[in-house]
Amino acid sequence: MALTKEQILDRLAAIKSPDGKPLPSSGALSEIVVSDGKVFFSIAVDAAAVKAWEPVRKSVEDAVRSIPGVQSAMIALTAERAGGGAGGAPQRGGGTPPPAAHGGGPSGVPGVATIIAVASGKGGVGKSTTAINLALGLRDLGLKVGVLDADIYGPSLPKLLAIKERPQTLGGTRLLPISSHGLSVMSIGFLIEEETPMIWRGPMVMSALTQMLREVEWGTLDVMVVDMPPGTGDAQLTMAQQVPLAGAVIVSTPQDLALIDARRGIAMFKRVNVPVLGIVENMSYFLCPSCGTRSDIFGHGGARHEADRLNVPFLGEVPLDMTIRETSDAGLPVVATRPDGPHAKVYREIATRVRDQLQGRSRARGAPNIVIEA
Ligand code: ADP
Repeated sequence: MALTKEQILDRLAAIKSPDGKPLPSSGALSEIVVSDGKVFFSIAVDAAAVKAWEPVRKSVEDAVRSIPGVQSAMIALTAERAGGGAGGAPQRGGGTPPPAAHGGGPSGVPGVATIIAVASGKGGVGKSTTAINLALGLRDLGLKVGVLDADIYGPSLPKLLAIKERPQTLGGTRLLPISSHGLSVMSIGFLIEEETPMIWRGPMVMSALTQMLREVEWGTLDVMVVDMPPGTGDAQLTMAQQVPLAGAVIVSTPQDLALIDARRGIAMFKRVNVPVLGIVENMSYFLCPSCGTRSDIFGHGGARHEADRLNVPFLGEVPLDMTIRETSDAGLPVVATRPDGPHAKVYREIATRVRDQLQGRSRARGAPNIVIEA
């Protein structure tokens, strides 16, 4: 018999929150995701009460794992941090960039103020190209930006930035990110031979990601852009839960099929309580380089319409364009190498909207920074 959410909730009824309420009625549980015997959910707690909750989280994980049919369970505590005090949410003034955090940092990674994900429902839609040019657009807004290539299976940063060097270590243990076009960047691709076939098992993926997040000397960053692996499977869901994300940008092409995938991406981030900052429509229209005629070859406008329907912001449209393809594939991202051109302008506008979304969300009460206590 297939495993159901009700079975999980039944089992959780026997476990109490630190203030004595049965868990299902504590109001702290996120949606419970059950997929092929794997169970994921989070418990939203007050940051000050994380210590009291940790043993509860552990008993929940053990209890869920003991249910027949459960192969694995991953339960995370998520905590909102109130503004003020050490490690509090950043104080942001109107129009100014989000300031970098120090010490523990509201993102949960020391020195890093805000972490955002760039994700897509499937591969090949231009997610990595968008991630790097968005990062450069944020840099052009005066922010200190890092890029973490979390696509462990198919890292693309080495190619996108034509990086062949290996990262240096600090004191033999901590890795220094590589500096490229004013960005601090790290990718598993810098550490392995290109020809090495990589087979990652779930726990190794997570430990590689945790290392790149926490054992790299990122320094002080206003924004870290995480280029997620494509898709919305278990690996992506786990990552979305493990990385303390302030928001996610979804990249989609206009085709219907890709939009269905984009919807899955949005649903995935909603499940783990990560705000969707908006959708970018990539390869949106074709601008003929010789005659200048615009052709909406994929039925352009789908992503804007979909964003309206799903009530998420529309961040902008990037044309299907040879210059973008050539610069991207040559490791010369267009925002860095042709800063005065029309493509750079498009990406900078998207970056501005992303920054505004982040600022708006940090100002609005009820849209706090989400910190995942791993
Ligand atoms: P993903 O990360 O989604 O797999 P990539 O960013 O690697 O996608 O892009 C896939 C291919 O599409 C690359 O060859 C890239 O140069 C190209 N590409 C991405 N965006 C555009 C665009 N707007 N116009 C033309 N080619 C693009």
